[in-house]
Amino acid sequence: MKTSNLLLATTRETPSDAVVISHQLMIRAGIIRPLAGGLYNWLPLGVRVLRKVEAIIREEMNRSGAQEVLMPVVQPMELWEESGRANDYGPELLRFKDRHQRDFALGPTHEEIITDLVRKEIRSYKQLPVNFYQIQTKFRDEIRPRFGVMRSREFIMKDAYSFHMDRESLQETYDEMHAAYCRIFSRLGLDFRPVQADTGSIGGDGSHEFHVLADSGEDDIAFSTHSDFAANVELAEALAPKGERPAATEALTKVATPNKHSIEDVCNFLQLKQKKVAKTLLVQGATEAHPVVALVLRGDHELNEIKAVKHPLVAEPFAFASDQAIMDAAGCKAGSIGPVDLKIPVIVDRSAAHMADFVCGANEDGFHFTGANWDRDTQITEVADLRNVVKGDPSPCGHGHIEIRRGIEVGHIFQLGNKYSTALNANVQNENSRAQILEMGCYGIGVTRVVAAAIEQNYDDKGVIWPESIAPFQVCIVPMQMHKSPRVAEIAQQLYKDLQAQGIDVLLDDRSERPGVMFSDMDLIGIPHRIVIGERGLDNGMLEYKYRRDAESQEIPQAEFMSFLQ
Ligand code: ATP
Ligand code: MG
Ligand code: MG
Ligand code: MG
Repeated sequence: MKTSNLLLATTRETPSDAVVISHQLMIRAGIIRPLAGGLYNWLPLGVRVLRKVEAIIREEMNRSGAQEVLMPVVQPMELWEESGRANDYGPELLRFKDRHQRDFALGPTHEEIITDLVRKEIRSYKQLPVNFYQIQTKFRDEIRPRFGVMRSREFIMKDAYSFHMDRESLQETYDEMHAAYCRIFSRLGLDFRPVQADTGSIGGDGSHEFHVLADSGEDDIAFSTHSDFAANVELAEALAPKGERPAATEALTKVATPNKHSIEDVCNFLQLKQKKVAKTLLVQGATEAHPVVALVLRGDHELNEIKAVKHPLVAEPFAFASDQAIMDAAGCKAGSIGPVDLKIPVIVDRSAAHMADFVCGANEDGFHFTGANWDRDTQITEVADLRNVVKGDPSPCGHGHIEIRRGIEVGHIFQLGNKYSTALNANVQNENSRAQILEMGCYGIGVTRVVAAAIEQNYDDKGVIWPESIAPFQVCIVPMQMHKSPRVAEIAQQLYKDLQAQGIDVLLDDRSERPGVMFSDMDLIGIPHRIVIGERGLDNGMLEYKYRRDAESQEIPQAEFMSFLQ
């Protein structure tokens, strides 16, 4: 490609809402452009990166034996009614009616659709196991889209769903997916960690998230300095054996009540009848403007009761179950109140068995707390304390000590068991010709989020530094005064052809710009290898080469250049 043919939309402007480096650089390098809240156009340079990420994912999924399918973005609500998630999912699910007044939703995930497909298409145990995947657009009406494509409303996900006769078979495919994910994220050039994750209300035996380590991450990842042990801090079990947690009541007595909103206020405003059964937890670190509070309900409180409440302090009604993770952590089935703006972000049912160490907060930079927890007295407050307590502790795996870093969740694999197959009655004939409900696993990768995460780990003050495997171009040729020097032009064109013939993705900067402008653009868009062709070098038979990560360039004899690049 030549720059004359490319929308090279580099800019010095950094939008004020771009608070993380990847968001800033994706705008500045002309990779994305905002359209509306949480919606982005991908420009040609960005699409090249996306397609490379997709290609790596597709290759490894195919290698693992998964089959590619493509399901509609638009999903009939009947299937969501059937699975029971129509109630649970909350406003992240964008619902609408078609011209015949039939109910539909934009797919945030595809368990219902694939389970419906499988129950219709797969008849016999002989056809199992199967693993279907797609790379497709998802829509989640995130309460706070932010960080650019890292948490957007529309995004591309690779999602896969496997079906099995039994748990052993599910475990096998799950392990295969775990291995495939390790290959994928290694090939993408990312520093990542597979971590044990909370299975939430779905239950089941296994869930791992794949986190790219970066300070801008929204999760805390605890891992051992000397083994593969790693866990999302959300998962209390990873840090403390269940039996060792103090009773929840004990822990609750240590909880402060926020001055601004007394328990009384909170209950009134939620129209809660059972005032006595509620306690509030002020998450330390909250400010007056952001008094992050968790309201803890005791006993078998009926959460439906508060379902219709509107928040008087924000324009929109409470977002029920706006954060699935919190709802899952709380084990709330009927729906709970997620981290809605500012005032009372988290409500959990204290009767839930596995309420521990979950992330809560206003889903806003600096207000997303991990370790809101009343099962362990050591971790009752906010993230900083949590770190103090657990960092350096012996790892629960018995090897090394606990290190804590921030992580960006780029992948998530999950043993679903028979949750969806039971609800949708997805069964096949077993060896004894009896109908048997299927076991199911699901496996997601945030394709667009991966691009942002890659930048979070690979940049400098000049711009992006793409990992080789996903760079939009591997090499750029920057000819000096090409439009004045026929010799420079000829050699640049020849080199361009030679590199293309080798199957190398090469960008020829054929603009008549000042060298400084060309250099800074090529640095900003992060091309790993740069070749400068100038009269002076050519006089000595030399080309100038610079690796994006190196400070200095080097002179390479023209004749040796192709072999040098290999
Ligand atoms: P998060 O905790 O960040 O909200 P999630 O747990 O809700 O993510 P999953 O349901 O596990 O997400 O979806 C699989 C993958 O899709 C995630 O691991 C993540 O990489 C990606 N993803 C989820 N939500 C978004 C989003 N709003 N924007 C971009 N990518 C997303
Ligand atoms: Mg989410
Ligand atoms: Mg998550
Ligand atoms: Mg997840």
